[in-house]
Amino acid sequence: MKPTANISSIVDLQAIIDVMPTPVFVKNRAHRIVLLNAAAAEFFGHSPEVLLGFSDFDLFPAEEAEIFHAADDRVFAAGEVNKNEEQVTDASGTTRTVITRKRRVRLDGEDYLVAIISDVTAYREAEAHSRYLAFHDTLTGLPNRALFSERIDQALLRHDRSEIPFSVMYIDLDRFKEVNDTYGHQAGDALIQEFAHRLAGIVRASDTVCRLGGDEFAILLMDHRKASDIERICRRILAAAAEPFTVEGGRAFVSASIGIADADTAASSVEMQRRADVALYQAKREGRARFCRFTNALDKQISHNRRLEADLRQSLATGTGLEVYYQPLVEASEGTLAGMEALIRWHHPEFGLLQPGDFVPVAEESGLIVPMGHWVLEQACTMMARWPDVPLAVNFSPMQLREDRLVSEILKILKKTGLIPARLQLEVTESAVLETNPKVQTNLKALRAAGIKIVLDDFGTGYSSLTHLQKFDVDKVKIDKSFVQDTGNDHFAIVHAITGLARVLGIPVTAEGVETKAQRNMLQSIGCTELQGFLYSQPMNAKDTEDYLVRARKLIRAA
Ligand code: C2E
Ligand code: MG
Ligand code: MG
Repeated sequence: MKPTANISSIVDLQAIIDVMPTPVFVKNRAHRIVLLNAAAAEFFGHSPEVLLGFSDFDLFPAEEAEIFHAADDRVFAAGEVNKNEEQVTDASGTTRTVITRKRRVRLDGEDYLVAIISDVTAYREAEAHSRYLAFHDTLTGLPNRALFSERIDQALLRHDRSEIPFSVMYIDLDRFKEVNDTYGHQAGDALIQEFAHRLAGIVRASDTVCRLGGDEFAILLMDHRKASDIERICRRILAAAAEPFTVEGGRAFVSASIGIADADTAASSVEMQRRADVALYQAKREGRARFCRFTNALDKQISHNRRLEADLRQSLATGTGLEVYYQPLVEASEGTLAGMEALIRWHHPEFGLLQPGDFVPVAEESGLIVPMGHWVLEQACTMMARWPDVPLAVNFSPMQLREDRLVSEILKILKKTGLIPARLQLEVTESAVLETNPKVQTNLKALRAAGIKIVLDDFGTGYSSLTHLQKFDVDKVKIDKSFVQDTGNDHFAIVHAITGLARVLGIPVTAEGVETKAQRNMLQSIGCTELQGFLYSQPMNAKDTEDYLVRARKLIRAA
């Protein structure tokens, strides 16, 4: 059936479109509404009778109406379906996002325009919200890592084009875990929120502060400023972290470590973040509560350390490459053998023979010092068990002293190898003994109770407080070689003072690093009880040590 000219007379059509939940209306060529459904009436906020004959200018602000008219004219001209997403102000004055589909229809030589409106406001809002969630941290409302990466990408582009500088900063709270453990997670969350707030107060609005997760934050510093500006910002961040945090149940204290990477055209967003992370790692290594800048040299050093760590792990697992050397300790006045000190060496598959200074720090940082120390002790005890009259000295790192099972492990090794406890001397540094960790103190007590001797190694390099000698129960003090080798007056006076006090306290004093007869004479004269150094012997491998011990025993017998 051909449609009639009078559209409004099609009653059936009106009934049909009124059931549709979607606003539908028809306009004539003069942009006036000639047909609409109930949903459209509701959308425009007037009754259908009122709306008939309305144009957009009767419904919307003039600027909006202009735009709609222009769009309508394009549809009248082209005739095609036109789909548009637009913002419209509805009857209540709120802005809604709608998708309109418009199409020209021709009836009896007249052009009309059919429009259907889909209100997608809720959908778009949900979309925007989930986009917000995808790019923000819910606890602090700060941008998250995803958004941060995007911002770095943009900064890199700008840097590429116009050399606008920027820096990426990684910030990590030190001791945050303790706050969580002491005051609970809610307090931890509150601290994170407060710190986020403090950070935001330090940087400019054009900078991006973000939370990477946990207690890790990052800042993208834009268009700054000289190196000294960045350092000033770092100092402010360190101060902001050091300010106490009021949390439920008390005041929490933390500090922050910061790593900084400066803009580099050759770097990607991922690489920029890696660099900031490397610098942060270094800041933590250097003792936390400080900032550190990325450099290529630092990068090389850290990746070298990571390589060493992996290789050392491998060496320990396979039991290859590590070797214990031994250096004699001699009785100062007689020159007879007074003991052997075990000193580790590592034959690295690529770098050759490594000294402890090359890898012990890596072992300490990674915790590998614990299995390594265990291995050294077992090796040395096995070897020296065959020389029942020679004391054995083994170096122990602070971390080993904190181990729960330290005492039982040592006693197990002694039992297994047959070395009696009284022959074992554990060389520990002053700082290790000074540790406030109660575990260290109980361990040291238990070790001494078991008959094992505790030697204060490298004395003079640490806190060097002579009162420590009195306070800690030590069986021997070893003066650091730097004092022995530097014959300056001050140093000599210090060695003199230490030996004097030790003698009063009845503690034997060993001097290490004795290389010349002059040094030996001086040390003998001030009352050192034992000497050690290249003058007597270099550290030797097990085979040479055996030979040395055979000769030494003959000498002792002959004496
Ligand atoms: P340390 O315990 O103070 O050992 C003395 C260091 O001085 C040794 O270096 C030794 O080779 C060196 N030395 C000995 N006599 C002389 C001398 O006359 N002149 C000079 N210039 N140096 C002399 P080494 O073997 O490189 O060990 C360095 C440090 O590494 C040791 O210092 C010790 O703290 C640590 N270490 C060595 N082995 C182990 C180990 O098995 N475990 C742990 N935790 N640390 C170890
Ligand atoms: Mg030592
Ligand atoms: Mg030493």
